[in-house]
Amino acid sequence: MTTGTAAVIGGGISGLSASVALRRAGWDVSIYERSKFKNEVGAGITVPPNAGLVLRHLGFDFEKARPVANETTRMSRCDAPPGEFYLSETYTRDDGLKNGAVNGNGLWNGNKSLDAERKARESRAFEGFGSCMFHRVDLHRGLRELAEDANGESGKGKTVEMKLGVEVEKIDCEAGILTLAGGQTVKVDLVVIADGAHSALLQDFTGSPPKFHRTGRSIYRWLVSMSDVLADPLTAAHYLPTSPTGFISFSDPKKRILWVSYPCRGGTVLNNAVLHDTQPGEGADSEAQSQWHASASKESVLSRLENFDESRRRIVHMASEDGIKVHHLFKRPALESFVRGRAVVIGDAAHVMLPTHAAGGASAIESAAALEVLFRGVNGSDDELVKDRLRLFDQLRLPRCNLAMLVSNAGGPWTGDSEVEEEVRKFYHGPLPPVGTLPWMKEFREILFHHDAYKTAKQALTGRLWFPN
Ligand SMILES: Cc1cc2nc3c(=O)[nH]c(=O)nc-3n(C[C@H](O)[C@H](O)[C@H](O)COP(=O)(O)OP(=O)(O)OC[C@H]3O[C@@H](n4cnc5c(N)ncnc54)[C@H](O)[C@@H]3O)c2cc1C
Repeated sequence: MTTGTAAVIGGGISGLSASVALRRAGWDVSIYERSKFKNEVGAGITVPPNAGLVLRHLGFDFEKARPVANETTRMSRCDAPPGEFYLSETYTRDDGLKNGAVNGNGLWNGNKSLDAERKARESRAFEGFGSCMFHRVDLHRGLRELAEDANGESGKGKTVEMKLGVEVEKIDCEAGILTLAGGQTVKVDLVVIADGAHSALLQDFTGSPPKFHRTGRSIYRWLVSMSDVLADPLTAAHYLPTSPTGFISFSDPKKRILWVSYPCRGGTVLNNAVLHDTQPGEGADSEAQSQWHASASKESVLSRLENFDESRRRIVHMASEDGIKVHHLFKRPALESFVRGRAVVIGDAAHVMLPTHAAGGASAIESAAALEVLFRGVNGSDDELVKDRLRLFDQLRLPRCNLAMLVSNAGGPWTGDSEVEEEVRKFYHGPLPPVGTLPWMKEFREILFHHDAYKTAKQALTGRLWFPN
């Protein structure tokens, strides 16, 4: 028996996580996804412990998705000898959440066979709730399987109905009515807006068109076969021996370039992302350019990376068949609320952010946990109760999501910039890191990643959480 009906608009990481969570809470969930799920993005994604904890709770099959444990951040200059890092931090056992959420400290020893290494890394990744590095397709597929699974622990509740190739054109948030392309209308008890960074439905939610601000920064991204990297002694020197696994970054401060690389898919694939100043022709002048799918030539990437030595530049030549994509980064002002009437907005539609802290997808996954706790057993026809739970959702999620977004959008080390801090303080009243703290350093990890969204949602429900505003 289900207790209410929910329409989730968008079948990305946010929409899928929320659907699985609501299904587990006893709701009858349908996903409206305009694509047919053909265009998966070929890139990596890091899932920090706060989100890993939720995935585990949802019954996510880590073994199948084969993430690699993220245990370290290491940074070198673009022309430094391999292995010479100006920053190297390995996350310790203290870093995990209290309930056993720790990474193992196993080694990726380059002398072992890839297969043995793969097994060791995978087991570290799903042993605890440590940070995991996924191929996006594997994370997305695992979530979709949880939504559609009919049996077992992961099949709790009613199977989510996937309405693929169905675009939602309009929402009446107060009444919970969707209008689909073609004019058909659907009325539900709860609308979850998860239509991504370019959300067109946000206009129906806020009442005005979303404001996009270009950041002037873009990202090249591409995947490389790890066996190709390891077969070339020049490139292998950066990744062998790799003990432990995590981010390896190369920077060119003169050209404001940061290249972050990390393994995923059981260590068989190396994900590369190069943050750089947007070049002519890379602006979001077309839908494709703003949506991850615009291509960049190896020559143009290499010309940006002219100060990088040959051992690094070769990784550009190794780009897989998909080639290199370029994606322009933009910001939107923080939303004042994530709920309206019978609608809630989550994921990039609610809080698109720069990937500084790998916190965008993770924030959406946390929001799914809150939905599960707050809507468990709620009768969807009880208007007052639904709205009450949405109010609680807002109180819980607005501070954390807007914090993650605003500190991510501030970029680089935390400067304590008074304008940013003032904006953050409109929503969030907890601790901020000391000035100078770099992304992913302990103080940031404690604030952004040491959070149990289930626990806080339960505390909010039982009145044990104090909301300052
Ligand atoms: C370079 C980069 C690196 C990142 N790295 C990380 C990281 O390491 N860790 C992390 O946690 N986050 C990371 N993020 C952020 C993360 O990728 C996003 O937060 C996350 O993918 C957003 O998922 P979403 O489901 O909200 O949106 P999307 O993935 O965009 O999904 C929205 C879906 O809605 C559908 N849709 C849109 N409009 C309609 C409509 N009208 N009707 C029906 N369907 C519709 C679309 O087809 C799409 O499938 C990164 C982001 C970038 C840009």
